[in-house]
Amino acid sequence: MALVRERRQLNLRLPLPELSERRHRFPPSISAAFNSTSSSSSSVTTNSSSSAISASDLERVRVLGHGNGGTVYEVRHKRTSTTYALKVVHGDADPTVRRQLFREMEILRRTDSPHVVRCHDIFEKPSGDIAFLMEYMDSGTLETLLRSHGTFSEPKIAHVARQVLNGLNYLHSHKIIHRDIKPTNLLVNRKMEVKIADFGVSKIMCRTLDACNSYVGTCAYMSPERFDPDTYGGNYNGFASDIWSLGLTLMELYMGHFPLLPPGQRPDWATLMCTICFGEPPSFPEGVSEDFRSFLECCMQKDAGKRWSAAQLLTHPFLKSDS
Ligand code: ATP
Ligand code: MG
Repeated sequence: MALVRERRQLNLRLPLPELSERRHRFPPSISAAFNSTSSSSSSVTTNSSSSAISASDLERVRVLGHGNGGTVYEVRHKRTSTTYALKVVHGDADPTVRRQLFREMEILRRTDSPHVVRCHDIFEKPSGDIAFLMEYMDSGTLETLLRSHGTFSEPKIAHVARQVLNGLNYLHSHKIIHRDIKPTNLLVNRKMEVKIADFGVSKIMCRTLDACNSYVGTCAYMSPERFDPDTYGGNYNGFASDIWSLGLTLMELYMGHFPLLPPGQRPDWATLMCTICFGEPPSFPEGVSEDFRSFLECCMQKDAGKRWSAAQLLTHPFLKSDS
């Protein structure tokens, strides 16, 4: 579903990982997950406290899912029986894909928040494939929860919103824009902790007001100014774009389907362009409380300048219903 497309030149200033930081080798089981004949792999240490994990201690349990760039496996640490998620991304020769991978590695090495899925280690193969050893979120994604348990009540949505906003507040204060907030990138565990995952199309801003000129991410959840940057002068505030995507995601949890289209309609690019950029601001579902309506309005202003920041939204009265 993800549309990952570079439209303008990427302003990429991220260093490659230091060679001296790479050390582990993959056992055959993990190498098999890489779908490659070579078994030689190396590890790039993250800022996580669990960086001493050796790849040879891991065994593959099952496939958790497939995404745009690769496959996610459940793996088990043989000695401690701890379960992790291993996301294997094919870093093929395409320079755009490799740039995105190195950007994801750089962001994951920097982030350390209870509201962002923890990355314990990063393994790299000579073929260019890269595997991210991540905290395992045992209840899947918000999308799987929506499908298995049905729509969310307002207090549950407030609970989700508070946690994602804490994560966004952390990222934005570190000048990181996620750019792909959507139900499948928000992972849940059985404690109902919700964490932000998947930094494949994220960007570190070099200055606070740096322009965000690339066109990447999943277009269904993109803000109007991100979908059609030319109409908005080419430069826009990517932090506000993440807030739009969060508003849309929360609406989806309430309504049970993608909110900007009738249930069952597949979102194609042209329909989305008309709806998001030229349509009226989204109309909110019947029966929502005043607080929830006001909260969604703060997230989904078509004018990005009027949208609230993550820090402001954390003070919104709607979140009081999250006990
Ligand atoms: P996209 O490529 O558009 O981001 P996606 O989010 O579904 O799509 P991935 O991020 O590769 O793709 O993840 C694939 C699936 O793997 C997810 O939908 C989720 O079910 C599962 N998954 C990913 N990370 C974890 C994790 N840390 N713990 C548990 N399951 C995970
Ligand atoms: Mg994803």
